[in-house]
Amino acid sequence: MSQKLATEIDLPLNDGHRIPALAIGTLPPDLPQRVTAQVITAVKAGYRHIDTAWYYGTEKYVGEALKHLFAEGYKREDLFITTKVWHSFWHSPEKSLDKSLSDLGISYVDLLLQHWPVCSHGDENGLPSEPMEGDYVKYDDDPVTGTKFIDVYNAIEDIKLNTNKVKSVGISNYSIPKLKQLLPKVKKFVPAVNQIELSPHLPQKDLTDFCDQHKIIVSAYSPVGGTGAPVVKDPYVVELATKYGVEPNDITNAYHILNNRVSIPRSFNHDRIKKAIILPRLTKDELDSLYKLGEENPRRYTNDPWGYGLGFRWWDGDTLSKEFD
Ligand code: NDP
Repeated sequence: MSQKLATEIDLPLNDGHRIPALAIGTLPPDLPQRVTAQVITAVKAGYRHIDTAWYYGTEKYVGEALKHLFAEGYKREDLFITTKVWHSFWHSPEKSLDKSLSDLGISYVDLLLQHWPVCSHGDENGLPSEPMEGDYVKYDDDPVTGTKFIDVYNAIEDIKLNTNKVKSVGISNYSIPKLKQLLPKVKKFVPAVNQIELSPHLPQKDLTDFCDQHKIIVSAYSPVGGTGAPVVKDPYVVELATKYGVEPNDITNAYHILNNRVSIPRSFNHDRIKKAIILPRLTKDELDSLYKLGEENPRRYTNDPWGYGLGFRWWDGDTLSKEFD
């Protein structure tokens, strides 16, 4: 029997739904309209999970891709679509979702995430989307201990409770301290997913263990370290790719998927999108060795300024940010 491809693996969520373990990321490239062709290529190559967000400004291009695919006979129910509520929509997550649904041209998303556990300035249209000085003080009395972000998650839960616009709800960029604040205040739905930066260079084992204990599926963004793809250049990743006769990107995806996590690579190289769907069966020793690459010297490559002070360790490369536990 032939082995399953990465595009064929689903993981069970804590609410009874299932999530495809390989997603295509749609953060904007130089020209956001390139996302349309990217998504079409990915879905035709077998990807069933599209990761997007209001903040990316690419949802209308994803929507164009969906229109094209549906016209060709692909069915909405065969795709899993994730979007996110940006922190400038702290006052109205449902409005954010409605904008996303309208741009995507669909009536529901499979997964709605709170993008960050913070709140920042934003009018009814979520603008400006970038935080302004003093924002967190205004909307989240303190960026570290404030609790307004919990209300936002509760409002996202309400959308699932009261509408048919989402199937599952979850969070993104939650550290252990933020999770410890949130979990006792959950109304009904423990987050199904926590989407975080994760790669062999940033294993965050304490956080992934915590999520596993609470049956929260971890979804890995920047699986190759973002632009420049530093992780696929790691000699051990290259060694494993050579051993298994696959792309280095297959190794970074396998690192997550074989550990029951979602991997969200982004690429606008259509050959790479099509090729990087193999799931090499790495051994336990090899998975452990991949973990060890970042254990000693973890590297965080995606440094959004609003992430500072959220309780993540190793923010900004070798700087140990304040820990709150
Ligand atoms: P990746 O780690 O997948 O990096 C993508 C970049 O790496 C692209 O520029 C790609 O270039 C390049 N690349 C990939 N493979 C190779 C290779 N073998 N050789 C050379 N270059 C390579 O991730 P992102 O940081 O973009 O994150 C992925 C997705 O995760 C995003 O699109 C988004 O959906 C999500 N995300 C979520 C966040 C959140 O806060 N929740 C934050 C950040 C991302 P090329 O196009 O040439 O292939």
